[in-house]
Amino acid sequence: MGLKDFFKNRQLKKAEKLQGKIALNGSVNGHDIKTPPPICDDVLCSLWTKCQSCKELLYTSDLKKNLSVCKNCGYHHRLTSQERIDQLVDYGSFIEIDENVLPDDPLNFVDLKPYKDRLKEAAKSSGVKEAIITGYGNINNSPVALGVMEFQYIGGSMGSVVGEKITRLVESAILKRLPVILISSSGGARMHEGILSLMQMAKTSSALKSLHEAKLLYISLLTEPTFGGVTASFAMLGDIIMAEPQARIGFAGRRVIEETIRQKLPKDFQTAEYLLENGQIDMVVPRTSLKNTICDLVRLHKQNHKPIGSNNGKGIFHEMPILARI
Ligand SMILES: [Zn+2]
Repeated sequence: MGLKDFFKNRQLKKAEKLQGKIALNGSVNGHDIKTPPPICDDVLCSLWTKCQSCKELLYTSDLKKNLSVCKNCGYHHRLTSQERIDQLVDYGSFIEIDENVLPDDPLNFVDLKPYKDRLKEAAKSSGVKEAIITGYGNINNSPVALGVMEFQYIGGSMGSVVGEKITRLVESAILKRLPVILISSSGGARMHEGILSLMQMAKTSSALKSLHEAKLLYISLLTEPTFGGVTASFAMLGDIIMAEPQARIGFAGRRVIEETIRQKLPKDFQTAEYLLENGQIDMVVPRTSLKNTICDLVRLHKQNHKPIGSNNGKGIFHEMPILARI
């Protein structure tokens, strides 16, 4: 008998026992109960998680305690944006900004279903309003501006809102003189918005150029998976580009490249380790040391950084207005 069956049987026995009591008294512990509690497969499955890499059955609470990294094989499971924020930012310090910048459907786009319906479904299934959450928080007491992409929202694709929220975050980081950390997990630009999504590549890159000119640090963290227009813009523009172990990072997918060049690619092609070996990223950092590594880099940069402009620490960009664009 497998573990899942064991727990299912145990739940069934409990339910039968409960039904017996109801039949005798019509109540349990003094409360009237008409039907026994339903046995939900989600509840059973939530006790155990099968590792997506080595297929080992892991106790979910142990997996969560280990930051969703498999203790058996070291595979880094995908995180939601909220889980990522909880792991990285000091408890209670995160303040979200621009949460009400919401997507629209400027092209009235329809593929298999209307884009408007996709947006509603994505918000419902992912629990977030767009494919990125931006805000400020402390990492081991060091203040940072943070943007975390949400892969569950239409594959973490970059539409007008994602580009706008990143640009606003970077511009406000310049005003507040904060380092920027962007955590990418994306399939690329959102084609439902056509050219408007592609324009976000230029917009975010331009904002990061201003951050660079203001001599502020930008750390880009690439997580499984980061592809397309996101890789081709802000994700690869970091002063320091780091990635999680085994994360797949690239522009076009492996199959598309193989069919185009008619060659077999190396087995580890487009992995974080392959990119590190070929000089495309600066470091591969396990999730368990991510918070301390980012904090060390932020503090190191702060020591060498002399604020430009006025002496009150506000800098020459203090009066720069933040313009709303979609
Ligand atoms: Zn594993």
